[in-house]
Amino acid sequence: MSTPLADPPEEYLPRDTADVVRTVRDSRPQPLTVRGGERGEHGGDYEDDLAPPDRRVVLSLRRMNRVQAVDADARLVRVQAGARLSDVDRTLAAHGLGLPIVGDHREITAGGFAAVGGLSAASHRYGMFSDNVVALEYVDPEGRFGTCGRTHHADRFRRILGGAGRTGIITALTLEAVEVDKDHTWLASDPHRFLDFDTFVEHSVAEIRNPGDAMLQVGRWVDTSPLRVSRPVGTGHVQLGTVRFGQWSSLHPTTATPSLRARRELGARARKSLGAIASAARGPAGMPVRNAAAGALMFAPKVLTLRDAEFLADTVITSAERGPAHRVAVFAPLSTYTAVFHRLHDLFTDYRERSGCFTVISAMTYGVRSPYLHELSGEDHGFITFTCRVRPTGTYTGKSGTPELLREIDAAIEDICRSERARRYDTE
Ligand SMILES: Cc1cc2nc3c(=O)[nH]c(=O)nc-3n(C[C@H](O)[C@H](O)[C@H](O)COP(=O)(O)OP(=O)(O)OC[C@H]3O[C@@H](n4cnc5c(N)ncnc54)[C@H](O)[C@@H]3O)c2cc1C
Repeated sequence: MSTPLADPPEEYLPRDTADVVRTVRDSRPQPLTVRGGERGEHGGDYEDDLAPPDRRVVLSLRRMNRVQAVDADARLVRVQAGARLSDVDRTLAAHGLGLPIVGDHREITAGGFAAVGGLSAASHRYGMFSDNVVALEYVDPEGRFGTCGRTHHADRFRRILGGAGRTGIITALTLEAVEVDKDHTWLASDPHRFLDFDTFVEHSVAEIRNPGDAMLQVGRWVDTSPLRVSRPVGTGHVQLGTVRFGQWSSLHPTTATPSLRARRELGARARKSLGAIASAARGPAGMPVRNAAAGALMFAPKVLTLRDAEFLADTVITSAERGPAHRVAVFAPLSTYTAVFHRLHDLFTDYRERSGCFTVISAMTYGVRSPYLHELSGEDHGFITFTCRVRPTGTYTGKSGTPELLREIDAAIEDICRSERARRYDTE
């Protein structure tokens, strides 16, 4: 068995598939938590037992991180599950190839991303990361090794992809690559700004239906709660109203000129500094700085390379650093996309108005042309996520506490999904 590190937590770092097999067999019946890489924080429970957290054993694939073979003619790459997608992409670049879908930070591993499906602003062209997996090797919950792929054991293949580690530990994958030079493909953004939610949604669905040659696309909407400030004279507060703002960005290929390159350098440096300042601003006092940094994502530079654009969020800050939030992510068939977006928006803003449970409500959206989802519903989809910042408990007059209220909201989301044929995508 691979070596456990000092406890807590008890962590296993296998070096190959045989090591994973031994670890799973030796730890049974204890539940295993599978992790991809360094930043993996979502580790899924390998079994469904509700064991207390302190009994959990973590199995991290981060030492199984090799890119094993590139077949440039077939545009395929074989990797160990712990390989970071940013490293795989770099290796492919030497062959004039790249991964069609990468996540928004550099530590994401191939196995970790395949296990959650995996989306990006390129999903309107290439679907989910898991759509681009051709075959995989895995170890099942009993510790048995197996292989599956699009054309063999296809049911098992589907169960493991998107299984979040519960249906099997992925140990190696064969991935499809595309012909692209990410370091020299220049993109120009073509932002459209909106003050009105209806027009924003209308524009988003039109862009998702007809993206043209956009390599990346994303729409973002921000809606703050009414701003309240103390009266300059006397007592009480003045209400300043709600800030509502949306932006749709499509990034199209463009030709690089020396002045574009210089602007790109400046933009990259500014984003790095903003990220550093925001990360250093810890605690409640740093919240406005962190929110400002996150807001800066809406103002992506006008020109940048495809590689920079794919990791734009990583240079700024992760959402988790901005305090507690209620998140929902759904795939909406394009025929009901507009209805789903409006109904979710109304749900969250109504709850905010009635109970004051949320502060800032933001949404993000883009298209998803996933063969897997298409097979299920015969349509392309739009991906919609809402992030509602939760007001600290006790500071609003809602129902008896946040968890109950959030459960009620969750039930309403389920209703919307059922009636509009949308699918939840759990990102927690
Ligand atoms: C359900 C879900 C959906 C997400 N969707 C996106 C997205 O679309 N785009 C994006 O940028 N980020 C997304 N995230 C954030 C996510 O943390 C990362 O994108 C990515 O999955 C993290 O990769 P990691 O290698 O660090 O995996 P981890 O955070 O360690 O693990 C992610 C999940 O995959 C499981 N897992 C990890 N490695 C393996 C393996 N080898 N075999 C089987 N299971 C494994 C884990 O148990 C866990 O459930 C999502 C997170 C979750 C939980």
